[in-house]
Amino acid sequence: MDNGLIFPYPRRNAREFRQRVLERGQHSRHTCEEPDVSSPSQQSTVRNRLLAALPPDVLAQLLPNLHRVCLPLRKTLAAPAKPIEAVYFIESGWASMVTHLDEGTQAEVGLIGREGLVGQSLATGVDTAFAEAFVQGAGEALRMEARAFQRELDTHPALFRRVLRYTEAMHAQTMQTAACNGRHGLEQRLARWILMAHDRADSDDLPLTQEFLALMLCVQRPSVTVVARTLQQAGIIQYAQGRITVLDRAGLEATACDCYRAVRERFNQLLG
Ligand SMILES: [Zn+2]
Repeated sequence: MDNGLIFPYPRRNAREFRQRVLERGQHSRHTCEEPDVSSPSQQSTVRNRLLAALPPDVLAQLLPNLHRVCLPLRKTLAAPAKPIEAVYFIESGWASMVTHLDEGTQAEVGLIGREGLVGQSLATGVDTAFAEAFVQGAGEALRMEARAFQRELDTHPALFRRVLRYTEAMHAQTMQTAACNGRHGLEQRLARWILMAHDRADSDDLPLTQEFLALMLCVQRPSVTVVARTLQQAGIIQYAQGRITVLDRAGLEATACDCYRAVRERFNQLLG
């Protein structure tokens, strides 16, 4: 399935479908409650695409400081105005970045999956977070302490350049999200967010609750219900009990606004 792109188009065939069913079962069994800091990771098992794209000798030197941890649902990985204690290179699952507004509401501004990391602002010399990052799709990450990460950035220009390019890609994602929220319709935006989550998941089953969809779309929950029902009636998704199942990926792409394609192409251009 890996064609060199950060977000390749999923292909549909019987073999892949069986694999997805198996993965869906694994996904649903992801029940870790607390981070499980283990021994340093093995080079051959690294799935994070940012790390995997580094020269092998650089990755080998990073491994002693990279520890595989569990990412349970809702775990906070970075908090606004708080020191960044560690960076998380996502291995599976995904994190959501949300900003807090003064009236106590939140809005989602970005998604981070195995194409990147949480805490990349350390590369620009900024050691506090602006947005909150928390786990929306349970999985695993390779965690590195902030001080070790800063030392490694100084030591390995290849890592520094890669993290800066990822930061630029995330800028594109947040800029496009701001424009999208102001201009595009709810159905288009819902399709776009589902595609973004689908790109980062190992399953067609996405744990997207109504509450979280409202957060992603900056609308009230009843509006989400109406739009999700429309997509369901079109046979594009199934939506039940806080989960969305993607039934028709092509249908989602046809429904989403062009913002999805624009951001995906920018990611592939900078990181692919
Ligand atoms: Zn849009």
